[in-house]
Amino acid sequence: MNTYTDDNTAAAERSAKALALMAAHQIAPVPANYELWFRYASGQTMALNEEIDEQLRQEKKFDAEMLNDLYERHLSQSSLADTAIETGDKLNSELDKILRLVQTTAGDNSKLGSTVRAASEGLTSKSTQTDIGRVVEAIMGASLKMEQHSKELEERLNESKSELKALQTNLKSARNEARTDGLTGVNNRKAFDEFLVEEIKKAQGARTPLCLVMGDIDHFKAFNDTWGHRTGDQVLRLVANCLKTGARDVDIVARYGGEEFAVIMPGASINGAEELANRIREAVQARELVKRSTGETLGRVTMSMGISTIRRGDNPASLIERADANLYNAKRAGRNRVVVEREADAPIAKAS
Ligand code: GH3
Ligand code: MG
Ligand code: MG
Repeated sequence: MNTYTDDNTAAAERSAKALALMAAHQIAPVPANYELWFRYASGQTMALNEEIDEQLRQEKKFDAEMLNDLYERHLSQSSLADTAIETGDKLNSELDKILRLVQTTAGDNSKLGSTVRAASEGLTSKSTQTDIGRVVEAIMGASLKMEQHSKELEERLNESKSELKALQTNLKSARNEARTDGLTGVNNRKAFDEFLVEEIKKAQGARTPLCLVMGDIDHFKAFNDTWGHRTGDQVLRLVANCLKTGARDVDIVARYGGEEFAVIMPGASINGAEELANRIREAVQARELVKRSTGETLGRVTMSMGISTIRRGDNPASLIERADANLYNAKRAGRNRVVVEREADAPIAKAS
């Protein structure tokens, strides 16, 4: 047991120091305690000294239980045990990590967790290399199972992930469908209503301009009556394309209903909106219509448009109403034209 190589003087000094400390801390003068404090005085077991120093710093009382525990952990083994303790400590801290991992992935009830826990409980300061070997094996076995388990978990997670992705995509396309006009592919009325609320809020919040264009195909009933409803549908698609092509990226093009279209123009001045609307109007007018099935020339369609620009206190209804009134004015004035809000109507902000 005694592995010290020091001479008797050094041993005597340590013995004196140990006894003095024991007296100072009212520690019972029994062999185990003497051995413990002698070891402390020798400074050979760093972990023991650190612990005792810490207790001294905190001025804690060295009761029988604490002394027993210190002895158990630091002195009850031969010098070979020191290595075992260290290895055991490392393993235990690894086990803790693994346990935490298992607990977080598989929950507290995990059988794996208890396997590893049971194995770790076998590890004490008395553990030998063989014990450690056995525990390592247990861990390896458990981690193998864990690997399978976590693979399953991962697979299940991946499955759920792709299911979720598919669901998300479905939802997205369903949502898009619900907001898209089936015939022309532009925003439908529902989307338009939502966008308009949003854009009015933004414009009023940031005091930025906003224009609304309402457009209606001229004499479309007559066109339908002459060429048929299906050809009329083709014209609606063509008009929608002209609007989409002519509008800026920030503009929101929608089919308001029937042969009526709307364009929300965030940030646009009256003049800017008027210019853009006129360009779109001209693009529609420029298209010579040909009946696909027969190659017959169908002439052209034109569009009338009314524009309103946002005012303080505006809401979707008031903005639409004024654009509609201007559209009506455009029709009355002879169609195929754009009518804008009078300059006298104070806008919410100066256009940039
Ligand atoms: P105005 O210049 O005054 O606007 O005359 P208009 O004939 O265009 O106006 P009116 O409101 O009298 O007629 C609108 C026509 O639009 C009636 C209908 O046949 C046509 N229309 C509405 N929705 C559709 C559609 O989805 N497809 C087709 N092909 N025609 C439609
Ligand atoms: Mg109409
Ligand atoms: Mg019309």
